[in-house]
Amino acid sequence: MLNVIKEQKGNILMVRLTGSIEESVDFEQLLGTLPAEAQINCKEVPRINSVGVKAWIRFFQATQAKGTKLKFVECSTAIVQQINLISNFTAGGVVESIFVPFSCLACKSELVGLFKSEDLKKLELKVPDLKCTKCGGNAAFDDIPEEYFAFLVR
Ligand SMILES: [Zn+2]
Repeated sequence: MLNVIKEQKGNILMVRLTGSIEESVDFEQLLGTLPAEAQINCKEVPRINSVGVKAWIRFFQATQAKGTKLKFVECSTAIVQQINLISNFTAGGVVESIFVPFSCLACKSELVGLFKSEDLKKLELKVPDLKCTKCGGNAAFDDIPEEYFAFLVR
């Protein structure tokens, strides 16, 4: 079940998506017609299935066709996977920031860190370790850089 919070900030409509994107999703009803600029926050989207992906692409491509400039921010790992798998997933929109999975080398906790796409490119995809929030140990990037960051270099 997907929930949407919208907030207008100047010329930009900030849209926060919360929840899984599945069969029941109706983007047209939830989001309506987006204005000239929209920023989509995907931090709280833990899951998107194949039906959800189709609905997503259909909605955002139609939105782009109407001239809306799209920016996707704080993309969850589930969303990043789709961005990597499907080249037109963002419908020409900018991916500003993404969550990156980490795993603590000491206590094995899984955590995520938020990075700007621009900064990841500057780091040449070599993600620095994070401090584990549970034990303070070192947490290392927990995926395959060539796969998780594929969208940054295509
Ligand atoms: Zn730890």
